[in-house]
Amino acid sequence: MFETIAVVGAGTMGNGIAHVFAQYSHQVTLIDISQPALDRALQTIAKNLDRQVAKGLLTEDQKAATLANLHTATDIATGVQRAQLVVEAATENTQLKLQIFKQLDAAAPADCILATNTSSISITQIAAATQRPGKVIGMHFMNPVPVMKLVEIINGYATEAAVTEQITALSKSLGKIPAVVNDYPGFVANRILMPMINEAIYTLYEGVAGVQEIDTVMKLGMAHPMGPLQLADFIGLDVCLSILQVLHNGFGNPKYAPCPLLVNMVTAGKLGAKSGEGFYSYAAGSKDLKVSDQFSKR
Ligand code: NAD
Repeated sequence: MFETIAVVGAGTMGNGIAHVFAQYSHQVTLIDISQPALDRALQTIAKNLDRQVAKGLLTEDQKAATLANLHTATDIATGVQRAQLVVEAATENTQLKLQIFKQLDAAAPADCILATNTSSISITQIAAATQRPGKVIGMHFMNPVPVMKLVEIINGYATEAAVTEQITALSKSLGKIPAVVNDYPGFVANRILMPMINEAIYTLYEGVAGVQEIDTVMKLGMAHPMGPLQLADFIGLDVCLSILQVLHNGFGNPKYAPCPLLVNMVTAGKLGAKSGEGFYSYAAGSKDLKVSDQFSKR
């Protein structure tokens, strides 16, 4: 099943998804419009495979076999020509995803399943951009993909039961644990996670407590491995904002309105770990967690 898989988008998630499929013996074509993104993705995968070897999770031979299963392309039409499954993990932008799915529908074989790793965009809307809405499904991996066990599988309005069964079986075959849910804004993961992160940002914004105190309460009090502000930095503050906007627009409920502090930070280009600063500052190469000067001064 699914001998040949294409992954569209070679960023944070795309490289992890390609890594896992290749590790489990699928032939993977990783596609990105940016050649540097593809080069970086291959370097990241090689580094992460080295880490798995060092931990005794993989042998050198398995690492080499994984790398040999990986191919790259900068053109969607070429990359998906023989795919039995495509997993789209391009930038979280509705118009972009609709355009990519039109391209995929035109170029991929008629029976190819088209999955999206979107965090929050409607699967039903994405499916409606294609001539095969029954074969479109959400396959939402968690970051970092090689480590995190969950795959949230999202049925669009028209997703065929057989497609859900195949994607569920595939997820299990990758050593993951699938949870099948329905297509409403934020699905399950982000509908619950993002209001918590937003409330943590409001708690900071209203001066109830500092960055470290908020994260300490949630880590030690609720046994979360990471505080909500650190997690927001890790996910990307722009990603958090766009998911909150999907929840706010989708339900029309003011409880999902993004905190003005989050909006300000994204507008100022403070996007979290990937931009070097969010609630914490991230010096290149340093693993120390230091509260950003912006918040340590208050
Ligand atoms: P990213 O910004 O790291 O990577 C996106 C990649 O898509 C970039 O390399 C970009 O060049 C590429 N791209 C843009 N337009 C393209 C096109 N037309 N064709 C091919 N490639 C194109 O983003 P990410 O964090 O990897 O997120 C990807 C998807 O995964 C989003 O839908 C996001 O919501 C979802 N997601 C992200 C996380 C996370 O923690 N970052 C977790 C779960 C799901």
